Amino acid sequence: MSVLLDRLAAELGAGGLLTGDEVTARAETWSSPHPCRALAIARPGSAAAVAAVLRLCHEAGQEVVPHGGGTGLVEGATAGSSQILLSLERLRTIEELDPLGRTATVQAGVTLQALQDAARSAGLNFPLDLGARGTATIGGTIATNAGGNRVLRYGMMRDHVLGIEVVLADGTILSSLNRLIKNNAGYDLKQLFIGSEGTLGVVTRAVLRLREDPVSQNVAFLGIGSFDRLPVLLKALDRRLGGTLSAFEVMWPEFYALVTTPPARNRPPLASQHAYYCLVESLGGDESGDHERFLAVLGQLVEEGIVADAAVAKSKAQVAGLWALRDDVEQVLRIGPVFMFDVALPIAAMENYVAGVRSALAARWQDAACVVWGHMGDCNLHLWISVQDESAAARAAVERIVYEPLAGIGGSVSAEHGIGTEKAAYLGLVRSPTEVELMRTLKRSLDPRGIMNPGRVIGC
Ligand code: ZN
Repeated sequence: MSVLLDRLAAELGAGGLLTGDEVTARAETWSSPHPCRALAIARPGSAAAVAAVLRLCHEAGQEVVPHGGGTGLVEGATAGSSQILLSLERLRTIEELDPLGRTATVQAGVTLQALQDAARSAGLNFPLDLGARGTATIGGTIATNAGGNRVLRYGMMRDHVLGIEVVLADGTILSSLNRLIKNNAGYDLKQLFIGSEGTLGVVTRAVLRLREDPVSQNVAFLGIGSFDRLPVLLKALDRRLGGTLSAFEVMWPEFYALVTTPPARNRPPLASQHAYYCLVESLGGDESGDHERFLAVLGQLVEEGIVADAAVAKSKAQVAGLWALRDDVEQVLRIGPVFMFDVALPIAAMENYVAGVRSALAARWQDAACVVWGHMGDCNLHLWISVQDESAAARAAVERIVYEPLAGIGGSVSAEHGIGTEKAAYLGLVRSPTEVELMRTLKRSLDPRGIMNPGRVIGC
């Protein structure tokens, strides 16, 4: 093994390969308290160097775990003690920003926020957004097909990628840096790698689509009296706001209580309690007209009895305050040690599904707590559950309660976080044997020695 490490060190140059204390000095991931356990950390500075690392590892049958910002939530990028962590942290250049073609060509280690800022300084917008924007990287968000808060309007990461450069398991560099919105010349190869969680190749560069920077941002916080009003509200806003609706975030009352009471910084934006709460946002191109229409539409919805109460942000600070309330998910940790879930299911099935999960939890654990919120416009809910027991057995039991009902209602065990190792055992619950077998065929074909992020997505 040291022969391989010597060859990697020689290939990568000074600082290119970390071993021993330099590895354990790092945390496993962004939020993990555990030290990194990898055999070594490779830090290539170019696609050619990534290719050299993979070529050597492929020859040696050495397992490799690609690593972006480490902000994933499904154990997708943690390396075991016999694996090499392949970090893209030195690939941090925004190579080109084309304001007329509205594209950005960026290296994989660029953070989401760095790209957002660069786009904005050119009068453009990169609309994918999530809480970990300062740490999550473009390569990581492509590998995991990240979602976030504005998917309803702009789509997931997949919808922003025009072209990619990927290094395959054997070190081959696949350069597919398409810049065209339409390009039907053959198979769309980039789609194979987007969302493959580093199991088929390593993204080193991408061409991303940029949008015009919105001129107006209107945000309101709504109280809703019953679940059946929520899909009606979503449809009405989408239709009446003329295509400017950009977020439809729903919170169950337990979530609202946690994020509006001390030690949370925020206070309730509405005067009374409601069955559900909803943050809605509209992004548009006409500052005064958009605001008037936003107020008029909300006024109609209150009159029609669909919205029980509304607080409309009157300043940029209030917009930020309402979003901060929605994003203050750390408050949910107050319920005890939590298991975090990210699921997708039809909106029509959500009320019964959540009630079913709650009653199954209560039947087994007297002090179970289940806090629910999510991007309802995208059919995506997050459930953070505490049964005051962090054991593996408790986790497995809670997982069954959360995941098993999804199979019968057309749901998914992952909406936006991916599968990683955490959900690999449940992939077959929501994907057919034929689908999983084709995934395995693709994996065998692109990574015949099984060195790329083993155990993720399709398991071992
Ligand atoms: Zn989310």
